[in-house]
Amino acid sequence: MLFLVMLKIYNTMTREKEVFTPLEEGHVKIYTCGQTVYEKCHIGNARTYSAWDVVIRYLRYKGYKVLHVQNFTDVGHLTDDADQGEDKIEKRAREEKINPWELVEREIEEYWHVIDDLNINRPNISPRATSLIPEMIILIKILLDKGYAYEVQGNVYYDITKFKEYGKLARLKLDEEQAKARVAQDPLKKNYFDFALWLNARKGDQVHIMRWNSPWGEGYPGWHLECSIMAMKYLGETIDIHGGGIDHIPTHHPNEIAQAEAATGKQFVRNWMHAEFITLNGKKMSKSLGNYLTARELIDEHGGLVVRMGLVSGHYRSTVDWNPDVLANAKKNIERIQNSLSLIKDSPGGTKTNLNQATEEVKQSFEEAMDDDFNIPKALAAIHEFIRQINSSLDNKKEILNRAGETLTELLGVLGLDFTKRKGMDDAKINELMELIITIRENARKGKNYELSDQIREKLRAVGIQIEDAENGPRWKMI
Ligand code: AMP
Ligand code: ZN
Repeated sequence: MLFLVMLKIYNTMTREKEVFTPLEEGHVKIYTCGQTVYEKCHIGNARTYSAWDVVIRYLRYKGYKVLHVQNFTDVGHLTDDADQGEDKIEKRAREEKINPWELVEREIEEYWHVIDDLNINRPNISPRATSLIPEMIILIKILLDKGYAYEVQGNVYYDITKFKEYGKLARLKLDEEQAKARVAQDPLKKNYFDFALWLNARKGDQVHIMRWNSPWGEGYPGWHLECSIMAMKYLGETIDIHGGGIDHIPTHHPNEIAQAEAATGKQFVRNWMHAEFITLNGKKMSKSLGNYLTARELIDEHGGLVVRMGLVSGHYRSTVDWNPDVLANAKKNIERIQNSLSLIKDSPGGTKTNLNQATEEVKQSFEEAMDDDFNIPKALAAIHEFIRQINSSLDNKKEILNRAGETLTELLGVLGLDFTKRKGMDDAKINELMELIITIRENARKGKNYELSDQIREKLRAVGIQIEDAENGPRWKMI
């Protein structure tokens, strides 16, 4: 079995690369923190999701059966990780003068289009936090019974001094940190790092729209609690891999550990993975600085394949600076790959056989790189060397050339770079062409030429493209 070959993964808990061994042989249970669905998926989010997509694709390539859960945070994520501020979803809904549930629906819909366009496989299970409120209330009761939590004015807080290993993931020096933070202490909490498990729906004259009855009155769950519950509900009390961006190391993930481990008495996560952030032209990505890009706008301008190539080209533990070179290089690399695949297709073939060895070697080098904590830059370097060899071996037998082409697309597929569907045409050009076809079909419909509009729809369906009539106009997707 392929998965017996050693795969090493960097574990944030130990700060070391460790040989990966899942709890159950051949099966991997992975939870990744998902989108807070109050606004568009930006390229930072997309980078993190692409990283997990590669991890999962590679685990499957190695023969593991992977069960992947990634949540939607649709309530309880406050504007400040330390329980200050407002619920991001309620705040945005109020600004837009719409219902928070409506906002959530809209953003989830948009989110899936982005994920599909970036060729990120959808998780096996995508729970919304609001779907598991009864389970969350049960967990809070357990923590109260065990003495890990306390109630104040309809809020329930976790008392971090009761969990001896609190902060082990972040390596927090609690006394020092608390001393520094004392000024900002929330009067309702016993300790600075205590965090909300349940929040009172009433704050001043404001009433939270998303609220549920509980033994502590009407309220809503804390963001950290949601992830512990969603992970354990579908994957069990101990999971193999838990992923998130590096912003989750200081607070969100230590809190998830504290909740789960205090309740179950078992290790919550065997392997913690964290993806580094994206910066924009050397600066931290931030809306207030105006250097903020949504995945959607980039996909619309450059096509999903180019953006995906840009997102996965760096190592997931290195910062990616999203400067113009990233997309320029991505385009160049894609053209190089497409060119090589066309050369294979167009070559009549010869009698030589030397490419066979290169085809074996590229798989080996690719796996060696990926086994070393998913070293994609090294894996891509092996692929580029292989392309060089293909291009200078077009006099090999046709079946050897074809096998090289299949290996090339297979390995790129593990990185989520799909060169099979597009048959060599650039994504941006496909978008342009599809816009034209959609306009012709719309005009046909307006002119009541339903025969033509149906014919266009059917022809497209026959070649694997589906047109959907969405609220803001027709969309298309590959099926
Ligand atoms: P959020 O919607 O803010 O809860 O974030 C969803 C996921 O994206 C989490 O795993 C975050 O850690 C990650 N994330 C947020 N901002 C960035 C960024 N600038 N770069 C990379 N990942 C990010
Ligand atoms: Zn989470």
